[in-house]
Amino acid sequence: AGAREALDRLVRDVPDYPEAGVVFKDITPLLADHAGLAAVVAGLAEAGRDAAGRPVVDVVVGMEARGFILGAPVALALGAGFVPVRKAGKLPRETHAVSYDLEYGSATLEMHTDAVPAGSRVLLVDDVLATGGTARATVDLVERCGAEVVGVAVLMDLAFLPWRETLGDVAVTTLMSVG
Ligand code: IMP
Repeated sequence: AGAREALDRLVRDVPDYPEAGVVFKDITPLLADHAGLAAVVAGLAEAGRDAAGRPVVDVVVGMEARGFILGAPVALALGAGFVPVRKAGKLPRETHAVSYDLEYGSATLEMHTDAVPAGSRVLLVDDVLATGGTARATVDLVERCGAEVVGVAVLMDLAFLPWRETLGDVAVTTLMSVG
């Protein structure tokens, strides 16, 4: 409940950013608010607990860049470690890489090959789920390591975009649906 109130009050709509026709959801005022940040981190962490409240994940994976900010405190709340998924060329050692299509062109995400042990149970954390392409690529990276994706947790999903189809049967926890 606190998370929902914080999202309603502290996420700003920015019209025509980063390009004309897009309404960008700016979460920086939410991050700047201690009570709001605490509420949404607690809400995201629920996706990594069973019905009795026990943590069920070994690793939290966050996607560059806002998935880093949210994923690290979620990992701490769950007694798990944190692993970054980065844009191409940013990680210094051997990586798995997955490319996916954007509206114009494509993008590549990478994760260190040894970052997630085989058999680990993994929760993905990001701020916004739009087409689902970023989350889908990250699921594929985690599965390349022989690990299991328990679910994807996000602050917001854009309900008018086809993320559900993109993610197939991957479990999704979203604190707020937009649109
Ligand atoms: P997708 O791959 O199309 O699902 O886009 C999700 C990625 O783009 C996430 O990593 C988000 O951080 C980012 N993103 C897309 N739309 C927004 C937005 O309105 N606000 C903030 N981030 C966004």
